[in-house]
Amino acid sequence: MLTPAQAETLIEQHLVCLPIESLPLTQVAGAVLRENIYAERDQPPFDRVAMDGIAINSIGAANQVGRLKIAAMQAAGDPPLTLNDSSGCIEIMTGAMLPAGCDAVVPVEQVQRNGDIVHVRKPVQAWQNVHRRGSDCRQGALLLAAGTRLAAPEVAIAAGAGMARLRVSAQPMIVVISTGNELVEPGDVIEPHQVRRSNAYGITASLRQHGFTRVADDHLRDDEAELTARLDFHLRTHDVLILSGGVSMGRLDLVPKVLEKLGVNLVFHHVAQRPGKPMWFGVSQSGPAVFALPGNPVSTLVCLSRYVLPALRAAMGESPSEPPRISLTAPVEVKASLAFYLPVKLKTDDWGRTSAEPCPTNGSGDFMSLAGTQGFVELPPGPNTYPKGFVARYYRW
Ligand code: AMP
Ligand code: MG
Repeated sequence: MLTPAQAETLIEQHLVCLPIESLPLTQVAGAVLRENIYAERDQPPFDRVAMDGIAINSIGAANQVGRLKIAAMQAAGDPPLTLNDSSGCIEIMTGAMLPAGCDAVVPVEQVQRNGDIVHVRKPVQAWQNVHRRGSDCRQGALLLAAGTRLAAPEVAIAAGAGMARLRVSAQPMIVVISTGNELVEPGDVIEPHQVRRSNAYGITASLRQHGFTRVADDHLRDDEAELTARLDFHLRTHDVLILSGGVSMGRLDLVPKVLEKLGVNLVFHHVAQRPGKPMWFGVSQSGPAVFALPGNPVSTLVCLSRYVLPALRAAMGESPSEPPRISLTAPVEVKASLAFYLPVKLKTDDWGRTSAEPCPTNGSGDFMSLAGTQGFVELPPGPNTYPKGFVARYYRW
């Protein structure tokens, strides 16, 4: 049976990168950049005044025992003036270009003004309060590489580079499909022998939380004809299918059989892990990737975070990143010789160090125990007891 790392590699090898689309800057938050962004100009593009005050020539001013005549006023956005008389000064605003003939700015707080004469109270250093041209980056420097996920700073940087639109990955068309005769929609009347259809909502919430917006939803009964017709439709209309349930050994676990009949090539079925062992993954001859997750609710969410979310990020062209490593606050016993996913609550100590408090569930059906957890750690196969302080890979929901 595959290890989780082997399963992950197989998924990566079978993914196709999603197409590129061009979006205006207001719509790119959370998207993955698919082009490099270079500096349009030096940054700052000119010697930028960093304080409101007066611009002076530090040498000329030194001869004036601190008393300078204001020759003019220059605001941010004004073309630069010239200080012709180095014993004078120019009243200046933050963001203005440093006037020619000046090399320092004295803040308003450090001058005393009397009409158009200012008295400078402190000694002046050349280039004080001037953000020098090109000191942050040079024109043409690589600012953002393709594969970067765009958050607030990256969007601001792209705007600063003059880009009105960005080439980013198109959102995948995803469909979340629950299976099972026993499942009843929240809000509908439920019989004692029935179960709420919770997985689809958990999966959709996770996808939305991670920035995926094109998410459809369907529910299928454990009926070969219904599964065949609907899955055929979804394979024609979506990039990614995320199923839950119907992949175990029961007589009505029809999902693998129907998928293969519809031309979805099996990549793997079963991973040496608990929970989530029956996970099935395949790729349709027509393109879409199919993740068929076990139906037990803890298994479903674990497999989603462990495999599906990273795969979707990779398909969007995001540069790969290692999951963070985190230490356990208490020992954990792993009995089976399978990788073990342990839900955890993150705890931060007085020094800001984060560790993982184990929150074991009462089996893979017990999703009530997941309340308040932020994710899970992946522990190596047992039998073994991992001590307090053991460092493991952390995946968030
Ligand atoms: P299965 O993988 O179809 O054998 O389902 C395993 C267990 O998970 C059964 O107890 C199902 O009732 C339950 N289950 C399957 N799908 C869902 C779902 N969408 N929401 C909640 N429970 C589910
Ligand atoms: Mg089922």
